[in-house]
Amino acid sequence: SSFAHLGFDEQLMKSIRRSEYTQPTPVQAAGVPAALSGRDLIGIARTGSGKTAAFLWPLLVHIMDQKELAPGDGPIGLILAPTRELAQQIYMEAKKFGKVYNIRCVCCYGGGSKWEQTKALEGGAEIVVGTPGRVIDLVKCKATDLQRVTYLVLDEADRMFDMGFGIHSLEAEQTAANLGVQQYDALLLHGDMDQADRNKVITAFKRQESNILV
Ligand code: AMP
Repeated sequence: SSFAHLGFDEQLMKSIRRSEYTQPTPVQAAGVPAALSGRDLIGIARTGSGKTAAFLWPLLVHIMDQKELAPGDGPIGLILAPTRELAQQIYMEAKKFGKVYNIRCVCCYGGGSKWEQTKALEGGAEIVVGTPGRVIDLVKCKATDLQRVTYLVLDEADRMFDMGFGIHSLEAEQTAANLGVQQYDALLLHGDMDQADRNKVITAFKRQESNILV
């Protein structure tokens, strides 16, 4: 498979070439068209598989569409990750690729300055990357709202559930609702999850409209 199949515009392609990626990884080749189609997606992919770009590139396309279709303020993409390190890693990549469209990205994690994160959010952002506790906190303080979010990524969702963001009865949907998000678009699970848990998650998230990549 080649990048040409993904249908990205020249601006994004330039940035991908600058990264010296010569072809999409399997999770990108399968995941990008699914996410671009607007269907919900569950991906199970290991670290190093290129999963971050697989959900970021379609998010950038979605943001550019939304800016035209539904102009307004507030984040359009919300990416939740279980740890600060992962959130920061995703943030760096979002910033790198988002730059081509002047898409603004803010990273919100526990342990970082809430004041600084609030200021950054006030400055405006199309993408918020963060850990769930801090994001919920910032929403409660009205530092941001998620009314406009139409693309939600739960990266390493299984780990977030383990940390108490709802795995017991697989309340991810509830977690999303608590955050004020009506709809999630992608759920990323990491590859080391045990088969029983994996099946539970897939069952919980399975809807007619879902794509499942394993
Ligand atoms: P991830 O699985 O998202 O943690 O990505 C692992 C690494 O693969 C990151 O350092 C990316 O920069 C790199 N990467 C992502 N997509 C590609 C690609 N298509 N070709 C080569 N490297 C890539």
